[in-house]
Amino acid sequence: MDTSAPLLGEPLPVELMNTVWADRDGVYDALIDAAGTRAWLQAVAPRTDLMTPDDVAALPSSALEQLGGRLTDLRDALRRLAAEATEDTRTAATTGAGDLQGAVAQLNRTAGDTPHWSALSWTSGRQPSRHLRAEGEAAAAAISAIADEAITLFSQDTRHQLRACLGPGCVLYFLKNHPRREWCSAGCGNRARSARHYQRHRRATAEPPPDEYTAHHQPPGQTSITPTTQGTGRPHPASEHGRPPHPADDPRSTPSRPTALGWAPLPPGAARRERSVLVVP
Ligand SMILES: [Zn+2]
Repeated sequence: MDTSAPLLGEPLPVELMNTVWADRDGVYDALIDAAGTRAWLQAVAPRTDLMTPDDVAALPSSALEQLGGRLTDLRDALRRLAAEATEDTRTAATTGAGDLQGAVAQLNRTAGDTPHWSALSWTSGRQPSRHLRAEGEAAAAAISAIADEAITLFSQDTRHQLRACLGPGCVLYFLKNHPRREWCSAGCGNRARSARHYQRHRRATAEPPPDEYTAHHQPPGQTSITPTTQGTGRPHPASEHGRPPHPADDPRSTPSRPTALGWAPLPPGAARRERSVLVVP
């Protein structure tokens, strides 16, 4: 089966964050079981040096359940750090992964679980290139390498390019790799324009909002994700249309940064990389 998670061509740490995704019916976890974990690992395997789709196919369910737990822990930590870096205001997207230091510790633990190192490849007539090598189980090493890549992302200027997509109902992250990019996908941009058009029309006609307006939004202040299903076979949220407007588009709503988590702001430049360990003073 194919993974239900959207794969947007983002760096793998961001793709992993986006294994939590949403449509008009709810929030989904693409890693909710062993089959979902296998599907996601197989989908991203060609983008790693450390595992192949065949490596993942050969994994028994017991190993997949363990790997799924590691991936989920890493994913929740990355979303916590992404919420910090982007000052994410989306209550439906903010995980209950704990405090900032807990997320940092989880990330560092995962990066160090399976040692891996760089190797140079250079044959006559070809360009030299960098590859990763590791000992131990291939998928476990790949997960540690994703954590290592995340440490680089968050400890360098790249984190300032990270964005929370404010498309209606969207819970995804993306790297703003172009000055005019505002959304995770063209689909979210289309929905945002439709929502703005709807708001203008509603103000002009003073019509009440449709009944479905608040159907899938969590109450204000709720910070945990409650995935409802794996979402197998559902279309990528970017392919859907006609979703209710996001609260951010509603002038009655005042989105606020969740304060229940009590996270401290991360000053620009405060995070640094020390021998592959992210340190936040
Ligand atoms: Zn989006």
